[in-house]
Amino acid sequence: MSSLVAELEDAARIGADEDGVSRFAWTPELAQANEWLLARLDALGLETEVDAAGNVIGRWEEGEGTAVLVGSHLDTVPRGGRFDGALGVLSALESVRSLRQEGVALKRPLWVVSFNDEEGSRFQTGMLGSRAFVGDLDLDDWRKRGVDAAMSAAGFDFERLPEARAVDRVGAYLELHIEQGPVLEQKGIDIGIVTGIAGMLGFRVRLIGEANHAGTTPMAVRRDALAGAARVVLALREEALKRGDITANVGVLTVTPGGFNVIPGVAEFTIDVRAGEPDAFSSLDDLVLETLERVAGDEQLGLEVSETHRKPPTPLDSGLQDLLAESAAEAGASVCRMPSGAGHDAMVLAKRVPAAMLFVPSRRGISHSPEEFTAPEHCELGSRVLVRAVRRLVTKPGG
Ligand SMILES: [Zn+2]
Repeated sequence: MSSLVAELEDAARIGADEDGVSRFAWTPELAQANEWLLARLDALGLETEVDAAGNVIGRWEEGEGTAVLVGSHLDTVPRGGRFDGALGVLSALESVRSLRQEGVALKRPLWVVSFNDEEGSRFQTGMLGSRAFVGDLDLDDWRKRGVDAAMSAAGFDFERLPEARAVDRVGAYLELHIEQGPVLEQKGIDIGIVTGIAGMLGFRVRLIGEANHAGTTPMAVRRDALAGAARVVLALREEALKRGDITANVGVLTVTPGGFNVIPGVAEFTIDVRAGEPDAFSSLDDLVLETLERVAGDEQLGLEVSETHRKPPTPLDSGLQDLLAESAAEAGASVCRMPSGAGHDAMVLAKRVPAAMLFVPSRRGISHSPEEFTAPEHCELGSRVLVRAVRRLVTKPGG
């Protein structure tokens, strides 16, 4: 067994939760995983730090200019898998180990990072660590969610979060991650080079009809809010299937008054639409609003719509994408370019520094579950590609 696969198994024991893994921000489980990582960074001779936001950083300070930052996260969703995040952190560790063994002299510094609270499981925050790292703070919101109390209980100081900003000393960010979708496995491809993180747009919708007797009201004159909602669900699904460059999901739906013999008077639901490319993203508003208006008109329903979130797509750096593709080809891996439907720390970093990601296949596309699995040979191949890319970056002077 390679050191990488052995370490993945080792790390999965920390915060083991039945057959999954639970490690949340500012909990003893994540602190233990951080200690485990710090010991390994230390053994490789790096300068280590847990910064003010709980990010674990190992610095190989050699050469000049900005650092190459490599990593991912060690926090998880409740009963999450063993690979999401951990693979990227342990592969970053592996990069340092390989370069040390080869005796490579760095022209610029190399840093390993495990960002805190990527998943945001505990406070529905998400990417708090990387956001603090780049100075993109939302202190009021985080305080409202109780992050300050959790931080003091864990020995951290909420007021010092701004001190975690270190992005100004970084010139490039690389992250290896599991795909968390089925595309690579279905295509039989080893490595996905991520072109960008999909843009996400969300709505809350209320369709208003008329509650009435289910037996006495003739079908032709009903104003059935659920029938309208069902048409919206199917219309968005058909359009997304037809186009192939967007996703659409209705994940929450409530119907009132909710009687088996009552025509649904009101249907409230959420819409989550996403697109990887900017052009596709900019078409999402029209798609959703036109669909809603058409159905509401046909079904004679009242319509109320409010936007819940809007995050445009984040393109990743094309030069670093090419570097990863070349490194993959050298390692004998098959490659395709693909957007990421899920958010990642790379999305936060990409706003400030050139950032890129590579994916390895997820068995049956499953993640955020104990069933999450990536074959050892794909973990190792992804790690070898990452090491090659890192080697190329750190043996050239940094800007
Ligand atoms: Zn992740």
